[in-house]
Amino acid sequence: MLKQIDELIRIRKYLHTNPELSGQEFRTAEYIYNNLKKTKANEVLKISNTGVVAVFESEKAGETTLFRADIDALPIQEENNFEYRSVIANVSHKCGHDGHTTILLGVAQNLSENPISRGKVILLFQPAEENGEGAKSALAHSFFKRLVVNQVFALHNLPGFPLKEIVIKEGVFTANVISLTVKLTGKTAHAAEPEMGQNPSVAIAKIILEANRHVNNKSIDPAFFVITAVHSHIGEEGYGVSAGLGEVHFTMRAWDKKLLSRKCKGFEKYINEVCSAEELEVAISWTQEFNSSSNSKKAIELISKVAERSNLSVSKLETPFKWGEDFGLFTHKYDGAMFGLGAGEETPALHTTDYDFPDEIILTGIEIFSQIIKEIHE
Ligand SMILES: [Zn+2]
Ligand SMILES: [Zn+2]
Repeated sequence: MLKQIDELIRIRKYLHTNPELSGQEFRTAEYIYNNLKKTKANEVLKISNTGVVAVFESEKAGETTLFRADIDALPIQEENNFEYRSVIANVSHKCGHDGHTTILLGVAQNLSENPISRGKVILLFQPAEENGEGAKSALAHSFFKRLVVNQVFALHNLPGFPLKEIVIKEGVFTANVISLTVKLTGKTAHAAEPEMGQNPSVAIAKIILEANRHVNNKSIDPAFFVITAVHSHIGEEGYGVSAGLGEVHFTMRAWDKKLLSRKCKGFEKYINEVCSAEELEVAISWTQEFNSSSNSKKAIELISKVAERSNLSVSKLETPFKWGEDFGLFTHKYDGAMFGLGAGEETPALHTTDYDFPDEIILTGIEIFSQIIKEIHE
């Protein structure tokens, strides 16, 4: 294994240098595909445009386990000066998916050297995690329609946690998230006579205040709910014109999916009422939905068992993470879990301009996944 670490770091740095946005991971998928073709996978195939799947199968019947890595980067300009920095302007791996991909490629190498004795292991390199589209399109692919999966696993690196620490939580691990765009159409008028038009600014102000009224940002509370205004725009920068158009965008999150859907309905009703009172046309569209990752007791027990056996420290989270992860769609459908892998207390936060995936945790990720495989397939 140690012999391979240089090669794995080289892969991670290659991916870091050549990031691609959600849904556009064509070269990344090609690179992964070519890499997997060199392994002893029984089948390597491309799914959903930019996704890649490798199947390792034993002749003996047994369970099927799926491991997923996300492969997309973010629309963020990298602010690092190291040699392998992103060469693509305004695109970089700021969520460490370059590292997650490398870990799963390492698992593929391991599976080639140590074939499983029963069942089937599926490695899924999933595109478009960051916009919530990837898991949905992968699961809709005919490959998954003909597949019976017994359990699924994924990991996410976690800056702010000690290097190599395994972070687990039974039940909800990441939040349910959904975003919405509200577009208002009124009528412009001379700025001296706003009464002659329909200016959407008051409606937008009311909608933002209403949103804030519902915030319950206490993560310990099962009724946790956060709605955040992320963007707004009214009219043009012309001082003679009363605005006739406006829009406001929000993102919402909650631990409880039912509570979230109740909040969505209530908010939509409020927006329609305000717009009707202000005589504005309104178009509401919902986007970027993430199901919460829900971890089964069985999967969490297995992760902590193999982590302890590998002498890794394990910490149990009190409350879920507030971010969304589209792996939630997998744990909705199959038994399984997502766990965290400590990326170092000093490592910059995910999605910040100077973040970089720490190579020291590549082998830790491979070790945990490989030990899970041993437990189920040996
Ligand atoms: Zn991310
Ligand atoms: Zn991520």
